[in-house]
Amino acid sequence: MTDKYKDEIITEEDREQDDEKHGPEKFCSLCRRTESQAGKMIDLPNNIHICSDCMQKSFDMMNQQMNKGNFNYSDLLNMPGVSMIDLTGLQNQMMQPKKAPQKKKEKQKEPVLDLKKIPAPHKIKASLDEYVIGQEYAKKVMSVAVYNHYKRVATDTMDEIEIEKSNMLMIGPTGCGKTYLVKTLARLLDVPLAIADATSLTEAGYIGDDIESVVSKLLAAADNDVEKAEHGIIFIDEIDKIAKKKNTNQRDVSGEAVQQGMLKLLEGSDVEVPVGANSKNAMVPLVTVNTRNILFICGGAFPDLENIIKERLNKQASIGFYADLKDKYDNDPHLLEKVTVDDLRSFGMIPEFLGRLPVIFTLDGLSEEMLVKILREPRNAILKQYQKLLALDEVKLEFDEGALHAIAKMAMEKKTGARALRAILEQYMLDIMYEIPKDDSIGQVIITREYIEGTGGPRILLRGQEVPLLEAAQ
Ligand code: ADP
Repeated sequence: MTDKYKDEIITEEDREQDDEKHGPEKFCSLCRRTESQAGKMIDLPNNIHICSDCMQKSFDMMNQQMNKGNFNYSDLLNMPGVSMIDLTGLQNQMMQPKKAPQKKKEKQKEPVLDLKKIPAPHKIKASLDEYVIGQEYAKKVMSVAVYNHYKRVATDTMDEIEIEKSNMLMIGPTGCGKTYLVKTLARLLDVPLAIADATSLTEAGYIGDDIESVVSKLLAAADNDVEKAEHGIIFIDEIDKIAKKKNTNQRDVSGEAVQQGMLKLLEGSDVEVPVGANSKNAMVPLVTVNTRNILFICGGAFPDLENIIKERLNKQASIGFYADLKDKYDNDPHLLEKVTVDDLRSFGMIPEFLGRLPVIFTLDGLSEEMLVKILREPRNAILKQYQKLLALDEVKLEFDEGALHAIAKMAMEKKTGARALRAILEQYMLDIMYEIPKDDSIGQVIITREYIEGTGGPRILLRGQEVPLLEAAQ
């Protein structure tokens, strides 16, 4: 455009002359400035154009009025030149500049799951090995199940060969690493994880969390991102506590009814869950989450299951020529591994529920040897954590072999699996962590069996007298 339009006063004559040269130029219906002066116009129906400044002013004014609470649609119509504006068109136009950054975001967004990026089962297991000691069979089964599950999710095939969902049921004594395995898995796969306790669940309408609350937990873990939540993992602990109650006349609201209520979730259904809260009420917005691709893992200790298995095996063994001694299975450490779906049914799980958890496996109880390994081998082993803490004070911390076994033995007695280790260690480390920073001359502390058993103290070595680490560990 010519320079003269930069001046404020434009006569009709000027405009006509210019129109003849370049065709009619758009001008703002409110402030009458032309496109070259006011910048790009927003086009409205009926050949009306508005510059962005005026549009902004109109909206600012509307906002102010709304904030004061006295906005009236007729005010807008009374604005000079606005009477003919079709508000819907106006809104659409206004939305357009806002859409641009959104589009950009969509472009950047990668698919949540990329089939090529799902690690192969042996790689998943190798990563689990770094954190979880023992439980080789469980790690193998889980790696394959998770791999298949996410392959199914990523391909999303709905043809005649539909891949079945790999929901899992893990059976193992308390503290043997069930929750820890699932947590590690979710972290490695970078998917959201919700951990729920089956004991707190009740049939909808009764006191307690209703079953769908597990999905809202997952949504919260996914930062309210529905798509992310739909590829997440839900771990339901203490699943044995929702076994069918035996010999009861009352309605079983926290047992069988919860199993029934979970059927739809396990299989895949649309669930309406509140955003940012765990109960539905009128004030909380709801979103729909589909559970078809959510991986459900249930875990429980199933006490008494061993007796059920033993009873079945004894019954089988006492029939016919193969009759065995009655106490054959009494001290069998691998008894739990022989579990069948029928045993679980006898325990009180309903067949429909079990049918939706096709991957069933057991975990081993932890032995003393495994507990020692748990103390020092995993990536974030408790010993490594204490060593790091003291290393910050430039003090080396070592445990001799005898001390580790003494700690493991104490933990075994507590019968809470690896969970007892930290509590025991903390008790012995308190004095060390308190005393050592007092004295700058200390260079190394060796925790001995005598210290743990209460018959002696730890070995304290001054700076310059430290013994090599390997020697200390003997
Ligand atoms: P549960 O089987 O009752 O769910 P957890 O998984 O919560 O037990 O285990 C409790 C803690 O014990 C975990 O946080 C973890 O630090 C430790 N732990 C248990 N089992 C193992 C294991 N096999 N390897 C490494 N650490 C373990």
